[in-house]
Amino acid sequence: MTPKTNHLLAAALCLGLPGTIALIALIAVDRLSLGPGLIAIAFVVGGTAVLVFRPLSRLRQLGNRLEGLIDLPPESAAEAGQPDDTGAIGDVAAALFRLERSWGRDRKQLRDGLQAAQLLFDALPDPLVTLDAQARLVYANAAARKLLEGRHGVNDLAGRDLSAVIRQPGILQAVTDVLGGMSTRTVEFTFTDRVDQSFEARVEPIRANASNDDDARALILMRDVTALRRGEQMRADFVANVSHELRTPLTSLVGFIETLRGPAKDDPAAQARFLDLMDTQSTRMTRIVNDLLSLSRIEMNEHTPPRDAVNLKQTIATVADLLAPQMRARDVSIELSLDALDRPVVGQAEELTQLFQNLIENAIKYGRTGSVVRVEATVRDGVASVSVIDKGEGIPREHIPRLTERFYRVDTARSRELGGTGLGLAIVKHIANRHRGELSIQSEPGEGSAFTVTLRMRRDADTAA
Ligand code: ADP
Repeated sequence: MTPKTNHLLAAALCLGLPGTIALIALIAVDRLSLGPGLIAIAFVVGGTAVLVFRPLSRLRQLGNRLEGLIDLPPESAAEAGQPDDTGAIGDVAAALFRLERSWGRDRKQLRDGLQAAQLLFDALPDPLVTLDAQARLVYANAAARKLLEGRHGVNDLAGRDLSAVIRQPGILQAVTDVLGGMSTRTVEFTFTDRVDQSFEARVEPIRANASNDDDARALILMRDVTALRRGEQMRADFVANVSHELRTPLTSLVGFIETLRGPAKDDPAAQARFLDLMDTQSTRMTRIVNDLLSLSRIEMNEHTPPRDAVNLKQTIATVADLLAPQMRARDVSIELSLDALDRPVVGQAEELTQLFQNLIENAIKYGRTGSVVRVEATVRDGVASVSVIDKGEGIPREHIPRLTERFYRVDTARSRELGGTGLGLAIVKHIANRHRGELSIQSEPGEGSAFTVTLRMRRDADTAA
């Protein structure tokens, strides 16, 4: 017998029980004879079976439909819990239990999936927002919240018009175009309200089943291109600066040549004077070209730190000897306090010579005549800090962060007069970078300056390597 027939029979028996008992009682007290009694019982049970057949098969259908909604294997029925009911109602109740569990699991999976997507979007370094059909913000990832929250006094981004936080006609027009049915647009814009920040924004349409008015219809992914644009600007400025720096002495040279050919043609005293001036100008050009070549060589190798052992005490002493004529010319003396350098540093001798030559030369150039330049070393945790200290004119605070830019000078005319190229500190900075060291500048106008470079001391392990 099938379970279906079982259920029908059980239900018919249960529902027909009172009538059957009454008939049996009538038979027992001989008020009804056995034959017609049994026929009456069969009618009661059969009639009840006919009556319950429809609701039972409806229950069965509902049970089957419930089964169709359940995304769990039948074996999981035990885990879902067992209802107390039996028969067809028990089956439907069991199916409901499993459905409840299956939906609970689906809801959890959905929640976990959403959380994972949220984490993923929040981990993106680039700001990402989605917009509804009215260009209102639907979602903003962590980077976008950081960028946009608080802008123009808007703290809560959800549901706000994009134009309330990004007041840039270019991107707003691109969003209007994309929401109006156009394909992907890429625009660039710059925030100027806090610090200047340039972004390249890609506006993409979202066409997939957006049914509600507040569903996301467009996505904006922004890429910070500030550093890129700044780099491009710096490159352009650099070329302009180099051209300018070389053109000035070149123009003088051309002028002197014309003078030598013309007015000074027969004047040996003037010729000698002009040749001296030409010598100065060509030396200046040579210095600029040499400094540029050094800079590009150091930059080219900047990603591979040098690993030689350099006796810095000796290097600095050699530089001091080398600069003795310049010191004499400005009546400057030098004091070396380098006892802390009891072992070599890790580096490249030629570059470290150039680094200290540039710093000590500056200290002589910009120090007061008749003053003392000190070079001091201290060592802490295997790192040497070497400072070149002068008692010179000092540097106004606002210039300090820019001193290591190429061709940046506090006083250009003065630097040129002293034979400077404006590249010395840029070279120092790049050598320090290559050595994974740091350059720091302390200065007090009218008091003097201290330029400090950190370098790693060589350890026994380095020697073994
Ligand atoms: P320059 O060839 O002009 O000396 P640098 O790159 O070496 O170029 O230095 C950049 C600028 O920094 C100099 O023009 C000068 O204005 C300033 N400067 C560098 N060293 C000192 C110093 N020891 N004291 C005062 N100013 C300094």
